[in-house]
Amino acid sequence: MKTPLCDLSYCELETLVKQSGEPKYRADQLAKHIAAYDGFEMFTDLPKRCTATLENAYCDRPLTERTRVESSDGAVRYLFETQDGDLVESVFLPHGYGNSVCVSCQVGCAMGCVFCASGYYGLKRNLSAGEILAQALYIARDKKDDGGVRKIVMMGSGSPLANYDNTIKFIRMITSPKSLNIGMRSVSVSTCGIPDKIIKLADDGFTGTLSLSLHAATDEKRKKIMRVANSYTVREIIGAMREFFDKTRRRVVIEYILIDGFNDTDGDISELKKLLKGLCCHVNLIPLNPTDGCDLKPCSKKHAYAFCDKLHGAGISATVRRSMGSDVAGACGQLKNRTVEQQRKKS
Ligand code: SAH
Repeated sequence: MKTPLCDLSYCELETLVKQSGEPKYRADQLAKHIAAYDGFEMFTDLPKRCTATLENAYCDRPLTERTRVESSDGAVRYLFETQDGDLVESVFLPHGYGNSVCVSCQVGCAMGCVFCASGYYGLKRNLSAGEILAQALYIARDKKDDGGVRKIVMMGSGSPLANYDNTIKFIRMITSPKSLNIGMRSVSVSTCGIPDKIIKLADDGFTGTLSLSLHAATDEKRKKIMRVANSYTVREIIGAMREFFDKTRRRVVIEYILIDGFNDTDGDISELKKLLKGLCCHVNLIPLNPTDGCDLKPCSKKHAYAFCDKLHGAGISATVRRSMGSDVAGACGQLKNRTVEQQRKKS
């Protein structure tokens, strides 16, 4: 497998150019082609000797589109193939105020959440920073005429903070004026909660939105649906979220899937109230999207809104999340799993 050219930050491109004895401005030429997700055949402003050397050592497009599914609401789910044949899922979400792209950061996931399709086959490997970036670059190119991409959410398959170095490199690259120049405030990272990495993210200058997949307010309950809950307590994780807020002054988001009869009672409201006391946060209530192989049920829409009202009553800011693209294999990993199953049946 060749190193993706888009794995190189602008600084690394400058070093490459310098080491090759080429003039400095070549770094800008390369950065432009990378940002446009151009293939080497489009690097026509560079001398042949340069592209030949690049082609030997690097790969121009580490992801190719395998299939796409378009939703009636305009969301598009892309399934990409890596150089070594792994499948990676990303989503384009159209918004009047700026389109967003949801990217994956790992092939599979190790966190073991029972409701989530991404972890169904476990973790295969981390994606490199360039492979994460390539998802956004490809979609920005594909959707250029629809307003491009203004917002990035790391809410696809995989756990960004478990692939920390590539995640932070990706964030630095995508927010660079030499790349897509996405505003840092327009980057969201979702995590199932790795306390030391949450604090490191703040120390490394991340000032986007940090979302925590909490889903249950007590360790006892959380352990029943998220294997990672055996490693860290909710108190430790919320402690790290408080520290993140103190360092960045950015309100954090608490993601909370509503599962019928499991975490949607008045008792859960009081546990949430105790746990989140004094934390500057917004609770995003997510109606469970049923996945194959998991028999948990979503609560009714009416109950979700009633739960939301009760959170307001407890002094907690909350909304029920509007789902997009649920007619095209809604939650992360579902399109990939279906494609893998179809492949298995065929062979
Ligand atoms: N891997 C990241 C992002 C996951 S996707 C993380 O662990 O936080 C974004 C949110 O959707 C997470 O809170 C995740 O727990 C949730 N989610 C996963 N599967 C879901 C499903 N089937 N229905 C509803 N929400 C789901």
